[in-house]
Amino acid sequence: MEPSETTIFDKILSKEIPSDVVYEDELCLAFRDIAPQAPVHVLVIPKRKDGLSQLSKADARHKELLGHLLFVAQHVAKSEGLAEGFRIVINDGKHGCQAVYHLHLHVLGGRQLTWPPG
Ligand code: C5P
Repeated sequence: MEPSETTIFDKILSKEIPSDVVYEDELCLAFRDIAPQAPVHVLVIPKRKDGLSQLSKADARHKELLGHLLFVAQHVAKSEGLAEGFRIVINDGKHGCQAVYHLHLHVLGGRQLTWPPG
């Protein structure tokens, strides 16, 4: 899929498509991935894409938001009970296997993950 202006996540944000929300604040939404790759698989997305279709589009004005998303990701991991550890993933672009061009952090855990990723 190529980068586009609107994505399925806009419909999730507008509640047009239902999602299982685990955390929400003024800047971001965290919801369970529809195709979980681990017992816990949550996506953390900014509510305003603000040009952030992917991480590599970030510029200096996004620094605070990026920090917030990372902070929320670890908060979600804790609230999901991932005391033994977890993984945060951001897929970027074709080689990163990005499918949805609205920045999102994957929070994965609840089982022993392997390394390196494919
Ligand atoms: O990082 P990437 O772009 O590949 O990840 C997109 C993620 O969005 C996938 O894990 C996919 O399962 C998830 N998704 C979702 N709900 C949708 C569409 C995609 O949770 N309606």
